[in-house]
Amino acid sequence: MTICMPALDTSVLVRRDRIIVALQRIVPGGVLTDPVTLRAYECDAFTAYRQLPMIVVLPETTAQVSAILRYCEEAKVKVVPRGSGTSLSGGALPLGDAVLLGMAKFNRILSVDYELGTAVVQPGVTNLAVTRAVEGKGFYYAPDPSSQIACSIGGNVAENSGGVHCLKYGLTTNNVLGVELVLMNGAVVRLGGNELESRGLDLLGVVVGSEGLLGVVTEVTVRILRTPAVVRALLIGFASVEQAGQCVAEVIAAGIIPAGMEMMDQPAVHAAEAFVHAGYPLDVKALLIVEVDGPQAECEHLIAEIKAIAAKNSAACVYISNSETERLKFWAGRKAAFPAVGDMAPDYLCMDGTIPRRCLPQVLHRIGELSTRYGLRVVNVFHAGDGNLHPLILYDASQPGELDRAEEFGSDILRLCVEVGGVLTGEHGVGIEKRDLMPVMFNEIDLAHQQRVKCAFDPSLLLNPGKVFPQLHRCAELGRVHVHGGKVPHPELPRF
Ligand SMILES: Cc1cc2nc3c(=O)[nH]c(=O)nc-3n(C[C@H](O)[C@H](O)[C@H](O)COP(=O)(O)OP(=O)(O)OC[C@H]3O[C@@H](n4cnc5c(N)ncnc54)[C@H](O)[C@@H]3O)c2cc1C
Repeated sequence: MTICMPALDTSVLVRRDRIIVALQRIVPGGVLTDPVTLRAYECDAFTAYRQLPMIVVLPETTAQVSAILRYCEEAKVKVVPRGSGTSLSGGALPLGDAVLLGMAKFNRILSVDYELGTAVVQPGVTNLAVTRAVEGKGFYYAPDPSSQIACSIGGNVAENSGGVHCLKYGLTTNNVLGVELVLMNGAVVRLGGNELESRGLDLLGVVVGSEGLLGVVTEVTVRILRTPAVVRALLIGFASVEQAGQCVAEVIAAGIIPAGMEMMDQPAVHAAEAFVHAGYPLDVKALLIVEVDGPQAECEHLIAEIKAIAAKNSAACVYISNSETERLKFWAGRKAAFPAVGDMAPDYLCMDGTIPRRCLPQVLHRIGELSTRYGLRVVNVFHAGDGNLHPLILYDASQPGELDRAEEFGSDILRLCVEVGGVLTGEHGVGIEKRDLMPVMFNEIDLAHQQRVKCAFDPSLLLNPGKVFPQLHRCAELGRVHVHGGKVPHPELPRF
């Protein structure tokens, strides 16, 4: 384990029994304490890191969440919020001296307003359940993480999650209109509302993507959209990654915003084909799936333009879906790519970084070189349209040192993303996975300013500590932090 978490606070551990009694009073029947049950919560989808929580509590109402947080703040007990536990960056990793606040029982869709195009949902509702609830009336919820069958809307808000269709329809932040948020002191606040215009400071924008560090989301108002009249997909193969990358850049430069534009490299194509037999061409070095949606005439026009751009970039093959079954078959391989890669090695790390689109060929080439240097295979599946890479690094955790090597390889990929003008994360968040790389992108002043926002919401630093910030300064220190020669003042102070 190379990522250090905050040291256990023994002054909390000795009070565990008292804390359990207090929580049971707030949520009768909703407090889990025995080690076997707690095991189910020991990690999220960043499974390389595991840690039993001290206690799990499963509230059902906002009033209970408020009472739990107020109690924990008074008793100086840390709290880790959790949705469905599918975070790939360790955002929901429990702490041994913290309460894990599971939001799974907040699983109701409260209301839908088809005239306004909004739905009010509880945070434990799964992403796909929102679309399922409104599709009968010809609506859907646009952000579609591949984990949508399991991940919760609360987790989506905390991670500002994306998906294939976010190229055209925006990430979670563009599709959330308001939230109810409980602060660490128990205060219940509402940010945003049910319309795009926000009154006052856009604190909703601050909370979306805040990774459970600012408050606990207990209700979310999302935008729902009319299902497009026509949806069609193109499958385009190329003899080189460079050609595919250039095609992506030229489609966007032509003013076309496809509903989705995904790329898979040859190892990913082979893995997916072996897994679901989607009919992918196996001789291409890169495969693009480009989806267009809208009225029939618009789709036909866009398909013709994209075909012409593909031809100009020497596409080796172009297939266009002529039925819904065919379109879904094109997507089947892409959607199964992650589990398919799971068949190639005992373990893999799924990286997430974003780069300017024009750097795609250069970055993929450098990732190939790093793969040789580290002696670990890598498979690339990614949201090409928005430059969001997901290199999957294959390794075997049972081999001594391989996890460390895989993590170092992953760090180099993220450093490379920043070096070419990109960012450390596209949609999976920082969590613990990228926490120690934050200084690659932000200097001490940037980080101190970000932490001031944290202090404004959670001055006792009790909510999800150990995540996102490489060093968590005491709030009182901020404003006086002067870094000389790279040395942080008062190094003797515990920073978490
Ligand atoms: C196979 C697979 C595919 C994936 N594909 C994608 C993808 O395409 N796009 C993408 O963006 N992500 C993807 N993910 C990552 C993950 O599904 C998302 O980050 C998702 O939003 C996490 O939701 P969750 O409910 O599982 O949250 P958790 O994992 O439980 O928590 C994630 C973070 O949210 C916080 N949190 C959870 N609920 C609340 C709440 N109510 N209030 C405040 N904070 C809260 C937690 O503290 C934590 O920091 C994928 C994951 C897997 C395993």
